[in-house]
Amino acid sequence: MSEKIGIIGTVIAAHGRHYLVQVGASRLQCVTRGKKSDVAVGDIVKLKQTSPDQAVIESINERKTLLYRSDQFKSKLLAANVTQLFIVVATEPGFSDDLVSRALIAAEAAGVKTHIILNKIDITESLPRTRERLSLYSGLDYPVHAVSARTMPDETCAALKPLLNGHSTILIGQSGMGKSSLINLLVPDAELATREISAALDSGKHTTTFTRLFALDAETAIIDSPGFQEFGLYHLSEGMLERAFREFRPRLGNCKFYNCHHLNEPGCAVLAAVSSGEISPMRHALYQQLVHESSQKLY
Ligand code: GDP
Ligand code: ZN
Repeated sequence: MSEKIGIIGTVIAAHGRHYLVQVGASRLQCVTRGKKSDVAVGDIVKLKQTSPDQAVIESINERKTLLYRSDQFKSKLLAANVTQLFIVVATEPGFSDDLVSRALIAAEAAGVKTHIILNKIDITESLPRTRERLSLYSGLDYPVHAVSARTMPDETCAALKPLLNGHSTILIGQSGMGKSSLINLLVPDAELATREISAALDSGKHTTTFTRLFALDAETAIIDSPGFQEFGLYHLSEGMLERAFREFRPRLGNCKFYNCHHLNEPGCAVLAAVSSGEISPMRHALYQQLVHESSQKLY
């Protein structure tokens, strides 16, 4: 067979260094050249087809956005070209503020818009306390949408579908928050599609922990990423961090020292806002932690 060059497709699933790329109506199993593994779900790639259902990724088109997390040693791509992030939290079990805030910071740094989806509002005992906790984020102008995937599926769809139109949206959340339930509501036949993707990706090993993209129409996609416990942001520099905290931005020019780190400097406008209660101590503590992580980066 003659090799076809210059085919363009979208990466719809990634597992290790194996990728599934959608090209029109067909899906090709792809690998990268050599040991390169810098391809992410959502990437638009150029392929060289090597068999009817296999191809090599030759190059990655320029990305609109790139979301990733990292530890001390390396960064891990979450998804490319996403335009918005849905953080799924719930009344029960309790969610982690640390994870929510880290996801918000990652999205800010990548130029990705965020919505917080509060699921399981039918569990009314925990609702006031959960709303109270989320007021920190709504106060920073992150929209919070209250839904119940299980008890109000139609209302939940009606609330979320309009937000998705024309966007590539990644959903993240700790396990148990109801992310799969939401995906099943928003993506027709999501479970079947996932089984097909899994089979095509690793020929029957039934991997469930991989990121996948569901195209709803030509302009709209939903990306489901497996739950994770750690959301390291070692890759963000101090300069990126201070701007990724929305509430710091209006104060950035106002510190006594132009190169203020907003940690313990005299005359710091950010610390003054923490003292006066305008900036949440929890958010400033996270900023401190992230500056520390940033300084520990080994790559
Ligand atoms: P995931 O781990 O985030 O993907 O969460 P799942 O979608 O698997 O849901 C976790 C559990 O929460 C399951 O038992 C769901 O039935 C339940 N659940 C999902 N949505 C709701 C909801 O709106 N209300 C209640 N009460 N339970 C829900
Ligand atoms: Zn300062």
